[in-house]
Amino acid sequence: MPKGQTYPAERSTRRRDDIPLVERADVVVIGAGIAGLVATLELLESSRHVLLLDRCEPHELGGLAREAFGGTFMVDTPEQRRSSIKDSFEVAWQDWQTLAGFDEDDVWPRRWAEQYVARARDEVGGWLKQHGVWFFPVVNWAERGGISLTPWSLRRGFG
Ligand SMILES: Cc1cc2nc3c(=O)[nH]c(=O)nc-3n(C[C@H](O)[C@H](O)[C@H](O)COP(=O)(O)OP(=O)(O)OC[C@H]3O[C@@H](n4cnc5c(N)ncnc54)[C@H](O)[C@@H]3O)c2cc1C
Repeated sequence: MPKGQTYPAERSTRRRDDIPLVERADVVVIGAGIAGLVATLELLESSRHVLLLDRCEPHELGGLAREAFGGTFMVDTPEQRRSSIKDSFEVAWQDWQTLAGFDEDDVWPRRWAEQYVARARDEVGGWLKQHGVWFFPVVNWAERGGISLTPWSLRRGFG
């Protein structure tokens, strides 16, 4: 039998605690920044066993998001409408392209950005709200400042 390989019968007698964490996991997520944490949450919600690894100390969990302002780019949101801001996919997508200054061969960045603009309110904002994140009713701007509209919602407890 090749080194390191075990028969199924042998495997079944191993106590769960004897099995290395990495073997117990369906998925290993490396990096506990906001991207890794969201991926982990989604996986846990799909009943997957996840091993989340990070090089930082436990109290540094969250990566750059720990310092982030908490602004979220969204398009045509209830918060914008309440402030009489008329936003749309077309306007937001035009703004994004103006600021991004994509090159001809930026095919994937362009596709990603277009999908983000199309899905930001319902998929990003909807997901956040579903998970208990609430936004201030007053809309601000950051990246789209000086372009056309104010799409920047601040989550409560930001900063
Ligand atoms: C001051 C500031 C304000 C910001 N404000 C906003 C804002 O208002 N709105 C907004 O949308 N964005 C904002 N951002 C940007 C936002 O915070 C980042 O884009 C986002 O947090 C990046 O998340 P991430 O998970 O992709 O990466 P990171 O946060 O960089 O997470 C990567 C994780 O991987 C770990 N890691 C790296 N290498 C290894 C390795 N080899 N092995 C194990 N672990 C590893 C790191 O320790 C880290 O925890 C701000 C950023 C800063 C700094």
